[in-house]
Amino acid sequence: MEKADTKQKKLPDDLWIKCEQCGEVIYQKDFMKELKICPKCDLHFPLNAGERIGSLLDKGTFQEMDRNIYSLDPLDFGEGYKIKLIKDRKQTGLGEAIVTGKGFLEGHKIVLGVMDFRFRGASMGSAVGEKVARAVEVALKEVLPLIIVSSSGGARMQEGMFSLMQMAKTSAALGKLNKSNIPYISVLANPTTAGVAASFASLGDVIIAEPKALIGFAGPRVIEQTIRQKLPPGFQRAEFYLEHGMVDMVVHRKELRNTLKKLLDFLSPNQIKENK
Ligand SMILES: [Zn+2]
Repeated sequence: MEKADTKQKKLPDDLWIKCEQCGEVIYQKDFMKELKICPKCDLHFPLNAGERIGSLLDKGTFQEMDRNIYSLDPLDFGEGYKIKLIKDRKQTGLGEAIVTGKGFLEGHKIVLGVMDFRFRGASMGSAVGEKVARAVEVALKEVLPLIIVSSSGGARMQEGMFSLMQMAKTSAALGKLNKSNIPYISVLANPTTAGVAASFASLGDVIIAEPKALIGFAGPRVIEQTIRQKLPPGFQRAEFYLEHGMVDMVVHRKELRNTLKKLLDFLSPNQIKENK
């Protein structure tokens, strides 16, 4: 007689996901419907660029811009970097660590940028900075509100000064947008750190963070060693930043689209009339 267990079909590994915070085992299909939030402990898992765009924009309205802008190897850092770029492009299907484009959010036409942590930790190299600056220019030219969802490890080490220059470039571009009174809303997902936190991610007219998102410039260990003091509990988390006035709102992912809609209603009343 055949043993029962040999008849059992093996379940594919990607059917279930285990929450890294509470250990809850979550059915993959439900997980996607719940915007990748753990039903037990509310941990917000990272969304990739496509998932984020899908969660925010009206269906089928996204038009990508500047897909063909991608980093080369300006410092001739070596084969390793070039190979990593090719590998990340292949694995993610993206050209670079940010996707930019135009679309509609609850009827509001906007320019949207979304970083994708899978691509080199969404670090900002020359291409990411260029795409952000161009997105700002489109917002300026077409008088459209700008929303950027950040999550990044910071500047891209392999591009050295070219990478650091993007902090100034993106900040200067946003300065022009600010003078034109066009709203820019910055959304900080976990984690938003270093060169990105210290440039365009912190320059929003409204800055929203996802719950428990890690936000900061240097890591806590480096800071502790530098100031020789113990850091307070919750340091560098979204809620701590809210308490200390560095972010304006901490918004649950399920409320994000609706919150952005309300902000767009409020910040761009003239534009609503134009687009409707
Ligand atoms: Zn959990």
